[in-house]
Formats: sequence, C-alpha cells, structure tokens
Amino acid sequence: MANPVGPTPIDLPALRRAPKVLLHDHLDGGLRPATVLELAADTGYENLPAATEPALAEWFRDAADSGSLVQYLETFEHTVGVMQTPEALARVARECAEDLAADGVVYAEVRFAPEQHLQGGLSLDEVMEAVLSGFASGESAAGVAGRPIVVRCLVTAMRHAARSREIAELAVRWRDRGAVGFDIAGAEAGFPPSRHLDAFEYMRDHSAPFTIHAGEAFGLPSIHEALAFCGCDRLGHGVRIVDDIEGVEPGAADFSAARLGRVAARVRDARIPLELCPSSNVQTGAVASLEQHPFDLLAQLRFRVTVNTDNRLMSDTSMSREMLKLVETFGYGWSDLQRFTINAMKSAFLPFDERLAIIDEQIKPGYAVLIG
Ligand SMILES: [Zn+2]
Repeated sequence: MANPVGPTPIDLPALRRAPKVLLHDHLDGGLRPATVLELAADTGYENLPAATEPALAEWFRDAADSGSLVQYLETFEHTVGVMQTPEALARVARECAEDLAADGVVYAEVRFAPEQHLQGGLSLDEVMEAVLSGFASGESAAGVAGRPIVVRCLVTAMRHAARSREIAELAVRWRDRGAVGFDIAGAEAGFPPSRHLDAFEYMRDHSAPFTIHAGEAFGLPSIHEALAFCGCDRLGHGVRIVDDIEGVEPGAADFSAARLGRVAARVRDARIPLELCPSSNVQTGAVASLEQHPFDLLAQLRFRVTVNTDNRLMSDTSMSREMLKLVETFGYGWSDLQRFTINAMKSAFLPFDERLAIIDEQIKPGYAVLIG
C-alpha cells in the first residue's frame, strides 16, 4: 500500500518499523543489563563491576568507549562469565531473538564462540544445543508478538586459541540445525587469520561459508590474508579497506577521483560484503569518528556495504539506532537504507531461495510503505 502523504519522516520509531537484516552481532555482546545481573545472582558469579542495572549499563558503555580494542574485549569476561549453563545460554539467545525482532530485524546471523562457554562442564555440542533452542523459542515468541524473525548462528573460533579446526567441524556438524557459517574473532594484532588455515580449508572442503574479522584493529594485510589465503566469503568489518583507496578522504563532497588498489578492487569486483559496524568501529578506534567513517565513501563507490551492530550492550545500540546515526551523519533516505538492507540479505549465508523470499516478501514491501 502506497503512502498517500509521501515518504515517512525518518526517526527512531519509523526506523523500528523498517525491515532490517543483521549479519554481524555477537551473542555475548548483546545481553540486557538486567539479565547480566540476574544470571550473575543465579550462577554465583561474583566479579561484576556494578550492582545495579543503570550502573552496570554505564560501566559497559564506558569500558567500550576507552578507544582500545583490547580493553573493549575485556568487557566480555563478564558477559561470558554468566553464560556457562544451558539455562543461561538459552535465555540469552531467546532474549536476543526477541530484542532484535522488537527492533524490526527480520533476519539475523548472531555469532558466538562455543569454546568460551565450557567452564561449567558443558561440551561444545551442548553449548550449541542450548543456544539454538533459545533462538528457536525467541523466534516463536516474536512470531506470536507479530514481529516475525529468522535467526541463524555463526560459529566463532577465537583467533588467539588453537581450536579453530575443531570449531569449524562443529559448525559443519550443526549446519542443518541453525548454524549457517563460521567466523574467527578476537584480538587481531599478532594473530593473523592465516594461523587458522586448516579450519578454513575444512570449511571450503565442505562447501560451507565463513566470514573473518579482519581489517578492524589491524590494517590492509589482514584483509589481504583473509581473502587471498583463507578465501573468506565476507569480511567482518573490513573497514580498513579504505587504506587501499587513494585520491579521496572520507567526508569529501565528491568521490569521483578515487583510485582503488588491487585489494580494494578485488573486494569491490567480487562483491565481497563488508560487515561494517559504525558505532563499534569508532569505539575500538578503527576510525576516528562517525564523520570520518568510510561508510559513505564505500557506499558511494558501490562496495557491498552492510550495517551492523557488533555489540549492542557495549555500544548501547540497535540496528535502528545505527541506521539513525548514518542518516544523521550522511543524509541517507529510505532508498539508501533499503539498498544496505538488500545488500545484507543478498550476503546472508541462508540458502538463495530463502534470501530471495525475505527480500521480495518482507524487505521490498516494508520499504515501499515507508518510501511512499
Ligand atoms: Zn565483531
């Protein structure tokens, strides 16, 4: 149904109605502060840095604002600390699906590292079972609430550890039960993706897709390795691809003088999706400010850019808020937001026919109403 009064003004409530697709979101980075407190009480976790919900929410924000990826990653000690039982994992996964659906996300790939949830004696498969059952009950609850969502998971291996091959096998073992891909995450410096070649070879050997956190804290070499040696299907962040583009600066009025180096050209030519996370990229220091974020430069040069949250708790954000920040900074309209959303859906690790159905049945009709 066309909007008889023209485009809906873009604000937070309207953005929450827009269908959105999220490819880069960490399960252990998206807990509700109240849930962190309750799970800590339930499981006897005594190391929380604050005892009330507002104080805890503020602590996470401040720690994430420190400007260092290493300090940012320390916040996960506490969220991971309270996610060590099947009940806690299932609850966090269920609430994640419900929160994303309430924000208008229609498809999400949420990632987590099973190897970080074994302190209570669970096996890797038991962790998978708990999380996927939580996503399924969250999907059901969201459907009943009239906000249908499809949630799939990416199985992450930690890049400083030595379990990536085993985790890749886990991802393939669960691929028909909700796991759609594999990822490696954690501190980039000193841990190049090529350390995990056997895991990526295993994924390729099983025709299974994967993304790699690269080009965030560490520059162009990690993107080159992720593409050339590892053969990744998407780039987690990849924001530093801008280092291989000359002749223009982010924030310039005109990008027509841009000259792409070999790596940047390869990323654009092969339509390698960039999982950009605007707030998180600023908080970790990957870019200096939102105004300096190369999102718009990359979007205008027609790289396959996608909008993502990374860690909703630490960045105090949501898909709608990330989109609002981009609208306020770069002046985007609904057609731009629809393009970024379709970019993301095209890049999902879901089967092609299911991707197409979400684009045709949810995304396009949803934006048509808003565009008017
Ligand atoms: Zn991430």
